[in-house]
Amino acid sequence: MPDCYIALGGNQGPVRETFSRALERLDQHPEISVIKTSDWIETAPVGDQTSDPFLNGAAQLSVSLSPESLLKELQLLETDMGRTREVRWGARPLDLDMLLYDQLVIHTENLVVPHPACWYRRFVLDPLAEIAADVIHPEKQITIQELRQRLLVKPFQFVLAGLPPEETALLIRKLQQLYPEVQFSSWETQELTGSISQEPTLIVWLGAPTSATRFEDLPLIPRLDLSEYQKNTERIVHVLQSALDFR
Ligand code: ATP
Ligand code: MG
Ligand code: MG
Repeated sequence: MPDCYIALGGNQGPVRETFSRALERLDQHPEISVIKTSDWIETAPVGDQTSDPFLNGAAQLSVSLSPESLLKELQLLETDMGRTREVRWGARPLDLDMLLYDQLVIHTENLVVPHPACWYRRFVLDPLAEIAADVIHPEKQITIQELRQRLLVKPFQFVLAGLPPEETALLIRKLQQLYPEVQFSSWETQELTGSISQEPTLIVWLGAPTSATRFEDLPLIPRLDLSEYQKNTERIVHVLQSALDFR
């Protein structure tokens, strides 16, 4: 039966109890077995939609449902546990995200697997590494443990790509003020000066239409397509924040 990993998150109500109830419910489903769960960890919320701390964890499921049907089950369970969907990334009693489904890669409108943020979010990778250290991320082609380890290398190298140089410089100045411990640079400038000294931890591609850098030309492991959020500094900050330590 296919092996699936899910992330659990929540910051409203009795979250530990909600997690136990959710896992019980999943395990009672005739086509789902809960195989393993991680410890639950407390994390600080990312962004300012909510200020209450989160509880996060991961679980391994064995399922005989299709990925689409499993997603429906997860969403049904979220709703039954009191989830309403007004604000994305806002307060919620329960968030269930499908991180991995065997080695499948799915990109449909309602479902992206592996979960697009699972490979750089510490609050996902820390619990996931407890129960899936040696599982390979089918797009990045390295293990969960390795993905987590990469984020621990200091200084954190945050590289911006695909924006005009002036915009990159402006953005770097803003980000540097918020995160003095992070090393920021521009992909295009590094290429020109040949000054790529350390492995980039994350290369965020902002894909301006005029950009000479194509996403596909960036190195596979650290590249992240955020072209959707080109003008949204806040979202870029959230990505960086979620990749740094959450304590
Ligand atoms: P994030 O996805 O950044 O963690 P979130 O979990 O708060 O944010 P939700 O409101 O739970 O986001 O989900 C938004 C939409 O994401 C859902 O309607 C769902 O169809 C879609 N989605 C796409 N891929 C997945 C996945 N792998 N797991 C769960 N939901 C997914
Ligand atoms: Mg989520
Ligand atoms: Mg979700």
